Amino acid sequence: MMNAKYCLAALTAAVAAPAVATAADKAPDKAPNIVVLLTDDQGYGDLRCYGNPKVSTPNIDRLASEGTRYTDFYAGAAASTPSRAGLLTGRYAERVGVPDVVDDTSDNGIKADELTIADYLKQHGYSTGMFGKWHLGYQPEYMPNRHGFTEFYGLPYSMDMWPFHPAPGHPYRALPLYENETVLEYNPPVDEMTIRLTDRAVDFIRRNADGPFFLYLPYTQPHVPLGVSGKFRGKSGEGLYADVLMEIDWSVGRIVNTIDSLGLADNTLILFTSDNGPWLSYGDHAGSTLGLREGKGTTFEGGQRVPLVARMPGKIAKGKTDSRFFSALDLAPTIIGMADAGMPGKNNNFDGQDVSDILFSGKSAGHKPFFFVYNGQVEAVRDGKYKCVAPHAYRVVTEPGRDGMPGLQIIDGGNTGLALFDLEKDPYEKNDISASNCETTKRLHAMIQEFQKEMDREMQQYKK
Ligand code: MG
Repeated sequence: MMNAKYCLAALTAAVAAPAVATAADKAPDKAPNIVVLLTDDQGYGDLRCYGNPKVSTPNIDRLASEGTRYTDFYAGAAASTPSRAGLLTGRYAERVGVPDVVDDTSDNGIKADELTIADYLKQHGYSTGMFGKWHLGYQPEYMPNRHGFTEFYGLPYSMDMWPFHPAPGHPYRALPLYENETVLEYNPPVDEMTIRLTDRAVDFIRRNADGPFFLYLPYTQPHVPLGVSGKFRGKSGEGLYADVLMEIDWSVGRIVNTIDSLGLADNTLILFTSDNGPWLSYGDHAGSTLGLREGKGTTFEGGQRVPLVARMPGKIAKGKTDSRFFSALDLAPTIIGMADAGMPGKNNNFDGQDVSDILFSGKSAGHKPFFFVYNGQVEAVRDGKYKCVAPHAYRVVTEPGRDGMPGLQIIDGGNTGLALFDLEKDPYEKNDISASNCETTKRLHAMIQEFQKEMDREMQQYKK
């Protein structure tokens, strides 16, 4: 029979052992580093790993082979400003102050009480650095340092919003290049931007290797005016646009190699995507949709479906192609969830949803319907494999430009009636199947009309 003293010791050991194991089980992972690499106006078909044989993008392709490539990922909107607002806040741009593209004369910008990914992560001990194009309002209160970024180097808006715009009737002011809230220079050389932003980003990663950090690198390219350093000019043999893509790819390689050489690969989520489809009116200075319908400024697939490559070894499947759909509005809630960076007492009412089930598990409960909205107009919805398009006018290019000169685009030149597409069979939106799918069309159109009412309420705030 066990004596009382031994029994007590055994009991203590029995209790203590699982207690230690439980503590170890519950020990939080080291907060993950987050890297978002965002190109500007790069098309769905501008990468080798997305099926374009004419471009050379070995570093992005490698990222895809070490992670997952998503075929049905959407930008939050079809133009820079609302797309970036959606990505950074997880909310439709109509709600956050910037429903349409802003420039050097706009009064509006991202609202003071909207929280960006950087705001959330900074509150939870992250270093937050942004290097590149902001485009969410140029006045001091709208700029990155007031919206969660402790470090900023870059432009307040697009590079073509400067005195050298090639088309008449665009009297832009000198384009400032900022370091935090100080203007370093005006009209910086377009050919140097990718290298400069990359150098800054690499330096940021090295300085913050002890982590956690959030790196947001919104490239100014391949948006017009195209620019490339001497090392890449003429290198692709396929024209300036392909040269620019090569240099962006080189940049991605430097970022990824820096992360890997510091031993940070396993604890770093790297996302590579674009803000909207190609600006087709620039002809040979625009990218490719590989056959998807229309481009930037429209809510057809060519305007909003963009590449997404994601890598996090051990967490995201290696070398996989995933066709489940989701959008950039989902990135903020997902990243904030990963970093356990919610803010007590703050309900941010995300439009996006946490898609860690899609990214990390290979299983998913499915995605809620995604609305395609442009400047307050709900033009389409995707639900499962179906996309319902509401009647609306849309931008068409009647004459593509050449060598950096814009061609002719007519803002409301195209018209569509109510239509339904099966994107699994017809990603090109060529075959309207609404007539043979009346119930689905009716249901999705009603959904659009209902969400339109909500957007109409949001748009009231912009009426003066
Ligand atoms: Mg853009």
